Amino acid sequence: MVIESRNNIVQPHFSEEDLEIELTLRPQKLSEFIGQKKVKDNLAVFIEAAMQRNEALDHVLLSGPPGLGKTTLANILSKELNVNIRTTTGPILERAGDLAGLLTNLVEKDVLFIDEIHRINSVVEEYLYSAMEDYHISILIDKGPSARSIQLDLPPFTLVGATTRAGLLTSPMRSRFGVTLRLDFYEPEDIFLIIKRSSKILNIEIDDKGALELAKRSRGTPRIANRLLRNTRDFAQIFAENKITLDVVNMALNRLEVDEKGLDDMDRRILLTIIEKYNGGPVGLTTIAVAVGEEKDTIEEVYEPFLILQGFIKRTPRGRSVTHLAYEHFNKSIPSSIR
Ligand code: ADP
Repeated sequence: MVIESRNNIVQPHFSEEDLEIELTLRPQKLSEFIGQKKVKDNLAVFIEAAMQRNEALDHVLLSGPPGLGKTTLANILSKELNVNIRTTTGPILERAGDLAGLLTNLVEKDVLFIDEIHRINSVVEEYLYSAMEDYHISILIDKGPSARSIQLDLPPFTLVGATTRAGLLTSPMRSRFGVTLRLDFYEPEDIFLIIKRSSKILNIEIDDKGALELAKRSRGTPRIANRLLRNTRDFAQIFAENKITLDVVNMALNRLEVDEKGLDDMDRRILLTIIEKYNGGPVGLTTIAVAVGEEKDTIEEVYEPFLILQGFIKRTPRGRSVTHLAYEHFNKSIPSSIR
């Protein structure tokens, strides 16, 4: 159940079927988007103001860990603005020409969504600057001595960039976004509502206790909540007459090795490696990646943010260290150095 995503970061537990169902479950309007109140309230104001002025919305940067709703929000934006959306990802844009092709096809006020925008290469990035700032691009035509560049005007458009690593964006890039919004992990109460909504759409019967338990173990991430809901449905179908209850959730998640805090096998491997092989740290990310057999980027973008939020891991100048909470989670005695 692992596919290689286009930016070469392995998205764990993410299959073609997941992608399809994700489309079905994706909220279409801002009012259907659950949680992230601050982000939603601000976006609603920006959308309304742009519509009143009959102008393109300012460029928007969405940041936050995978699965929190960045792509969903970009699509909602275009729907609420009543414009088209064109979608691409940073690593696909290899040459300036790739970007020019997309830009010159935009209609006034359209949304251009670039996922993983921090992975755009520097040549394409420079090219994007003038497109974002002045709505024009220079295209080089002909080769050799007759080569010359011509300026093309673009219609005003809205660039929506999404990134899991806002820190990797260059500052000239960041400064060209008029609106910067950060998505945070969701509270269990919001994930509960997302699970309820998804179960209605997918026609899955789930009681409140079961939904709340699933919500608590979904790492504050809608994508994971939706996946665990579907996995749990399979257990309910085979063992519990299609009804998801607390008992079914407990059985399913135990079988799937998702523990009571929502940690999965890889989370545990990361923590136990730091505890058992490196005395609790600090230890460098590259070393951890080799020890657990996972890509460094995947650890940093997918696993670490939640482990830090839960207080299991600390980032220090000399690497990653676990906290007393990690020792307690595994019932291990806490070394005096961190007590
Ligand atoms: P990202 O682009 O941040 O990786 P996505 O926008 O692809 O995340 O979201 C993953 C899935 O989670 C979506 O298909 C959608 O079904 C669900 N989802 C995300 N945010 C919400 C939300 N606020 N309310 C309901 N469902 C959501």
